[in-house]
Amino acid sequence: MSHITDVFGADVFTDDVMRERLPKRIYKALSSTIAAGAGLDPSIADVVANAMKDWAVEKGATHYCHWFHPMTGATAEKHDSFLSPTGNGNVLIEFSGDKLIQGEPDASSFPSGGLRATFEARGYTAWDCTSPVFIKRDGGNTTLFIPCAFISYTGDVLDKKTPLLRSMEVLSNQAIRVMRLFGNTTATKVTATLGPEQEYFLVDRTLFEKRLDLQMTGRTLFGAPSPRGQELDDHYFGSLNNKVASFMADLNTALWRLGVTATTQHNEVAPAQYEIAPVFGTINVAADQNQLVMEMLEKTAEDHGMAVLLHEKPFAGLNGSGKHLNWSLGSDDGINLLNPGKTPHENAQFLVFMCAVVRAVDKYAKLLRASVANTGNDHRLGANEAPPAIISIFLGDQLSDILEQLKGGDGATSSKQGGEMTLGATSLPPLARDSGDRNRTSPFAFTGNRFEFRMCGSAISVSGPAFVMNTIAADVLKEIADELEGADDVEATAQTILKRIATDHNRIVFNGNGYSEEWVEEAAKRGLPNMRSTVEALEAVLDASTVEVFERHGVLTKAELHARYETLLEQYSHCLNIEAQTALQIASRQILPAVAKYAAKISSAEGALFDGMKAELATKGAALQEAITALQAAANAAAAAGCARKVAEAYRDVVFPAMQAVRAAADSLEGIVDKEFWPLPTYADLLFTK
Ligand code: ADP
Ligand code: MG
Repeated sequence: MSHITDVFGADVFTDDVMRERLPKRIYKALSSTIAAGAGLDPSIADVVANAMKDWAVEKGATHYCHWFHPMTGATAEKHDSFLSPTGNGNVLIEFSGDKLIQGEPDASSFPSGGLRATFEARGYTAWDCTSPVFIKRDGGNTTLFIPCAFISYTGDVLDKKTPLLRSMEVLSNQAIRVMRLFGNTTATKVTATLGPEQEYFLVDRTLFEKRLDLQMTGRTLFGAPSPRGQELDDHYFGSLNNKVASFMADLNTALWRLGVTATTQHNEVAPAQYEIAPVFGTINVAADQNQLVMEMLEKTAEDHGMAVLLHEKPFAGLNGSGKHLNWSLGSDDGINLLNPGKTPHENAQFLVFMCAVVRAVDKYAKLLRASVANTGNDHRLGANEAPPAIISIFLGDQLSDILEQLKGGDGATSSKQGGEMTLGATSLPPLARDSGDRNRTSPFAFTGNRFEFRMCGSAISVSGPAFVMNTIAADVLKEIADELEGADDVEATAQTILKRIATDHNRIVFNGNGYSEEWVEEAAKRGLPNMRSTVEALEAVLDASTVEVFERHGVLTKAELHARYETLLEQYSHCLNIEAQTALQIASRQILPAVAKYAAKISSAEGALFDGMKAELATKGAALQEAITALQAAANAAAAAGCARKVAEAYRDVVFPAMQAVRAAADSLEGIVDKEFWPLPTYADLLFTK
């Protein structure tokens, strides 16, 4: 057996394990529940729970845990052991169906965005039986993990999984309606699929531990540029160094054991930056697994004397990290609904699905932007040295041409073809040329048989953007199905709908350079929103159109959306406050004292050289002191600015620039202070220490 097949899924309660360990009748009931995405029949839960417990105990597990995804975007786990006292001083090992299906953790310290008062503490977790149960090994602990949804005592959604599961069902129902209209009779379910590409940085752990900013905030708040950055383009797809390669090998093994189909790995653009991508899967499982990928990145890095940086912008002046969300729709009779085939102009069903996505993305562009808003991503979207935060869609030559044809109203009659390329050397095979090029600058790109949403930040839970994409796509599919079901001539009505979408939403299609200044102007002319910061972007969560679309499909209520807005806005301010406080500590307690020590060291030296050095140190040191005082004042004022929105604005408009000023003053001192006195590992140290 190969290493992969040997370890793959070794710690997962897979379908094979279920079949082997459960009575036939129970296995059948459970697997049809999973396939249908329905709730588990309580009458079989005890048997399932017992089988799971036996399996887990054989693998060394002592505990089980309901694993869930609160609105923080992180994961939450509370472990309980399988032990049950018998009353005579002995213990039994037990796990009941009740405990498998439902948990009741104290929810009071998770963000509820005002849905719950602090004293209203009861929350419930409920098993999502469509995401496999697995065993996680942390240090000496071996624990059975049960993926769960998380809601409050009053039934309000407090997590990221519940809306995702709801959105999947809604999307499936609407997609099936459309498929039926095009004559499909065999599909019973449509699944949203997701393949998240995860970018990250690795740095030496000893250096990481000397940087309070990396430890507290995940990004460098100080640091002059390294003499060498990414300008030679030599890191991207470069050969892996041994240390990183052995890290990746262990990471893969850890993930394969957990049933994560880790497959792609490579060096990314910036020095010390890498990527990992799994083979795509069902969207809720992919979301759970991406959380495991982030966790295993952290743990494996630690084992290898390194630290992983998942932040969207750990280093100024270098590429940030994203999480490209490859998203598509697959039916249970084997059709990828976003696969155009060779002649998409003849594939009306594909055109309807593609156009539905185009309309959804244009109509709900602000909401989609809001779904990936956080402090880290502000550095990647709209801020300096980042592409603009404008949502546009890249369709490529072939599909853009078809969209043009559809505008005419008589349908599309041709599809541009890619053809073949010969390479001029007989030893090289002729290459099939795709019907369209790739475009790396597009935030939402059609990539052959799926769309790729590239705005998601590397640290963000994929569930938020995932349930937004599902819900808005479902909404447009519903409109289309409503119209077609009421039509006498489905084909002619479909052409009318396609024409309307091609005309109304052509503005969002853009195949050019999305990073250019001209595009920013052009997009403004087209009326496309450009939400430069989290604070503005989050407003979309409260929009009437957002509330309507989520309530129409029963994915989230107005109150739940409001809670999400509050939670995200608060998180934004908290993150910036942590950054400000960290910057103050480093500047006041590490950098200024180092400057003072160095100044003292050269103070008694005489001569023109030293006079110049002393004067420069004095000026720059005083500038840093001043900037520190200003940042302190800004942070104090922001915290007292009033309502959550005002506080967030103050952090964005006053604290952030004040922090940048402290950094500029400190970075300029880094250029003149003896390295032996400088308290922080430099950019060159962090990026190039192998
Ligand atoms: P890129 O060349 O864009 O960097 P990668 O190979 O790194 O692409 O990643 C592409 C991702 O898209 C993979 O996770 C892959 O499994 C995923 N993908 C492929 N087909 C689909 C699909 N139908 N639905 C969702 N994701 C898909
Ligand atoms: Mg990739």
